[in-house]
Amino acid sequence: MNVTMMLSIVSIIYIFILTIIYFLKGNIKNPETKLYSIILPVILVGGGLELSLRFLAPHMDNLKWLNDIVSKLFLIYLVFWLSLITLYNVYISFSNKKYKKFKTFIIIYNLISYFFVGILPIKYHYDNGMNYYSYTYGPACDFLKICLLSLVFINLVVLILNYKDIFSNKKYYPIIIFEMLFIITGIIQINYPEILLNIFIESLVAFIMYNTIENPDTRLIEQLNIAKDQAEKANHAKTEFLSSMSHEIRTPLNAIDGFSQLILEEKNINVIKDEARDIMMASQNLLEIVNGILDISKIEANKLEIVKVEYEPKKIFDELVKLTKARIGDRPLEFRVNIASDLPEYLNGDYVRVKQIILNLLTNAVKYTKKGFVELNVSVVKKNQVCRLIVSVKDSGIGIKKDNIEKLFSKFERFDMDKNMTIEGTGLGLAITKKLVDLMQGKIVVDSVYGKGSNFTVAIDQRIVNKAKVVVPEVKESKILNVKGKKILIVDDNLINLKVASRLLSTYKVETEEVSSGFDCIKKIEDGNKYDLILLDDMMPKMSGVETFKKLKEMKDFNTPVVALTANAIAGMKENYLKEGFNDYISKPIDKKELERVLKTYLNAK
Ligand code: ADP
Repeated sequence: MNVTMMLSIVSIIYIFILTIIYFLKGNIKNPETKLYSIILPVILVGGGLELSLRFLAPHMDNLKWLNDIVSKLFLIYLVFWLSLITLYNVYISFSNKKYKKFKTFIIIYNLISYFFVGILPIKYHYDNGMNYYSYTYGPACDFLKICLLSLVFINLVVLILNYKDIFSNKKYYPIIIFEMLFIITGIIQINYPEILLNIFIESLVAFIMYNTIENPDTRLIEQLNIAKDQAEKANHAKTEFLSSMSHEIRTPLNAIDGFSQLILEEKNINVIKDEARDIMMASQNLLEIVNGILDISKIEANKLEIVKVEYEPKKIFDELVKLTKARIGDRPLEFRVNIASDLPEYLNGDYVRVKQIILNLLTNAVKYTKKGFVELNVSVVKKNQVCRLIVSVKDSGIGIKKDNIEKLFSKFERFDMDKNMTIEGTGLGLAITKKLVDLMQGKIVVDSVYGKGSNFTVAIDQRIVNKAKVVVPEVKESKILNVKGKKILIVDDNLINLKVASRLLSTYKVETEEVSSGFDCIKKIEDGNKYDLILLDDMMPKMSGVETFKKLKEMKDFNTPVVALTANAIAGMKENYLKEGFNDYISKPIDKKELERVLKTYLNAK
């Protein structure tokens, strides 16, 4: 086996592998890739013909007819291959219209060439030294040379016409390389006609083309499209969320604003008290919305912790029933409750979150059911000291479409918005619910028939406790703390917030002073004023609370407890303030219980 034969075999194997890779990869359909998908198998056929010729040559005497056929097919192949390359060159250089015209010309050109190559005689050169038929010549070969040269000339003209682009546009590289190789091999073949380099050159050109044609990876494109779709959906969901959020926030704000104006004009103290209560309820509602967002932010930051304490489950369910009844009000909804009689008296777990989960489900059931019933079923499975709470909330409401069920627990997702326009919601409830259930290693399943109703079932394991020191909030009337004689400095740039804090503190008969910046706070201390506690807002212009705090700490003999009082309440903030060195943290709006806890801790109030 000589070197050129080896080269042919290696080239064929290479093209074979390239063809498999190219077709397995999947291609975007365009004229370039279409041409390339023809070029690759055509080279394989050409390689097969070239190899056959080498094997047939020794059998010239008895298989001359077969040699004739294969030789002529090989010549035809050469015209066909170069025609494809020329078509490619024309496609990347000219308009689609010109390309189509040229394609017609090439087809006619090919047919004429095949005809003449077919009828013209072909001769074989016998190499006496090698004892071998080494190459073909004669009229068919001469005609072929004219055909090939014309095509090479056309390619050259195309390149010249596009001379400005050919070096900057890598699509021209295979053509340029081919033209150069054609000249080099032409010179070689004039001197050594027996050396056949066709398949090697064609494979090389095909390889360069593989890397230069416009052939984006279809799978990559699919993945990109999916990612793009997801990003668009997420973006859309966020926009929807923001608009529903602003609607949600506006509703209680409207109540707060409206009632406040009424109070200003009202003289009857009882009416004023009534309206103040409505304001409180609206604020509570607002706070719930904000807490929902906080929960989600905590969940996403993996900062939501399960706090296990002992509690009385019966009380929790009673409370849930009461809340649900209040929510149903006088709507035509039957509320059925079945609570297992063997529910343990005491359990250990995060009852706040258990309550939150079930309340979310009950609230949804009531929200999305116009008439019929809402049913709460609680059953238990006890094993050793573990009690599996199985809570199902069933309703005869609008139900959920099958397609939507899998999206149900994604945040910001709300369905049937045309029907649910008037139902308040943020699309956060079930996302939080699912996350909480997961955190407690529980399970939640949904069974819903669109138009008929839904059934949400949650299973959560809780530890059974025999005797407990129960922490469930027994609503005790808080007795007023005694902090007489103590002095607190409140620092906040927002005058309303200053007023709220000092008014709340005034109920404890504590003396307060208010300043509206970090500078004023430092000045007060520098001037020798003494306080028992400083409540310090963080987000203030020019000097933040944290900066103020650092400056205070640098002062000699400063040892007043400083509590961060801030609306910056997203996940992990409390820890951050404590890390900065603050003694404690209270989030705004101020929770009275939290305030009392701080007063007890730092003012020794009783
Ligand atoms: P929200 O109720 O605040 O919109 P959720 O996360 O609690 O958010 O619920 C997401 C969506 O799932 C709701 O908007 C509603 O379309 C649907 N959904 C939830 N519970 C029910 C139910 N019991 N019946 C019908 N649809 C429900």
